[in-house]
Amino acid sequence: MSLDDLYREVILDHYSHPRNKGTVDPADIVREGANPLCGDEIRVSLRLRDGLVEDVRFDGKGCSISQASASMMTELIKGKRVEEAERLIGALKAMMHGEDLIEGLGDLEALQGVRKFPVRVKCATLGWITLEQALAELASR
Ligand code: ZN
Repeated sequence: MSLDDLYREVILDHYSHPRNKGTVDPADIVREGANPLCGDEIRVSLRLRDGLVEDVRFDGKGCSISQASASMMTELIKGKRVEEAERLIGALKAMMHGEDLIEGLGDLEALQGVRKFPVRVKCATLGWITLEQALAELASR
């Protein structure tokens, strides 16, 4: 199996069996993001506790890349410190814009192949940018 096939399989697995799908209840914040170029919509809800992302969920519709990336995001971010979540958002965005992937990002590696298709980069970053905006809004309260 080629690396591209493997990556495709990881993305399809998250798309068909999304992790942490739904809405956190009660949530500290709910944020919606959209990528009109592709028709992707993502809603991110989360709850913080003692500086940790206690729970994070997503809901939405759109292409496999947008939904799979959001699924991977919730899996990775849940239970992490807010600062670590912010660092991971930065790492994902840097990767999608051509930098090497840092170690330990698990399934996110599968999104590297998307970089070859600039139109799809917005799909892959949608959930992350929505999460970033949610965290920024919480920090400003
Ligand atoms: Zn898309």
